[in-house]
Order: sequence, then C-alpha cells, then structure tokens
Amino acid sequence: MSQARTCTQCGTAIVGRSDKRYCSDSCRHLANNTVKLQNQHERRILQTNAALRKNRSILKQLSPQGKTTLPRQYLELAGFDFRYLTQVYRTQKGNTYHLCYDYGYMLLPEEKVLIVNWQPYMEQSKV
Ligand SMILES: [Zn+2]
Repeated sequence: MSQARTCTQCGTAIVGRSDKRYCSDSCRHLANNTVKLQNQHERRILQTNAALRKNRSILKQLSPQGKTTLPRQYLELAGFDFRYLTQVYRTQKGNTYHLCYDYGYMLLPEEKVLIVNWQPYMEQSKV
C-alpha cells in the first residue's frame, strides 16, 4: 500500500522508501537547520523569561512592600541581571524606573537603588 507522500520541506512528491520525509538531502538539511534555529529562538525566550522572573523575585524579596532604598550591590549579590527588564517608565520629574513586571527600581546616586512597586499610572507613559 503506497500512498503519495510529499516532502515535508518543499511539498514535492517523494519517490523511494516510504519512511523518507524529504525529497532530497538539501531539503533535509534545510528542515534540520530550521528546527535548530527554532530551538535556538525558543531557548533564548526561555532564558529571557527565566532572567526576568529571577529579577522580579529578587526585587520582591528585597522590598516586600512599598519603596525601599538599598545599595545596588545587594541586587548584584542576589544575582540580579540589570540587562533584563519588561518596561521603562519615566516620571514627570525625569526619573527612570526600570520595571520587571510588577516591581521596578530606579538608580540613585552613590550606587544605591530605590525599589518600587509597579503602579497602574505607569501603564500610561510613553517612552
Ligand atoms: Zn523537498
């Protein structure tokens, strides 16, 4: 029982063994590379999500409620990664909050940070 099979990559009819998924080596390579690329993208997304989640939990731990000022080093020691954030909010005074979901921080002079909670009004700002 032979069923007309087509190449998973390009749609061309496949001749030969019934377990073949691709019409040619070049289609097989192309498909494998596509999968690799997708996996790379997925991995990158997962890594980014994990970093953001970690940042948020560090901010939350260091500042369970309200605003807290502490040395920037505390965040670094906890493994905070300053490259990852979900939003930037500029206050009317010109300060910049870097947010990770519902927590954020503002850099202060003398290597200090102010940890803040996300507020609904921060949604309205245009950067
Ligand atoms: Zn093909």
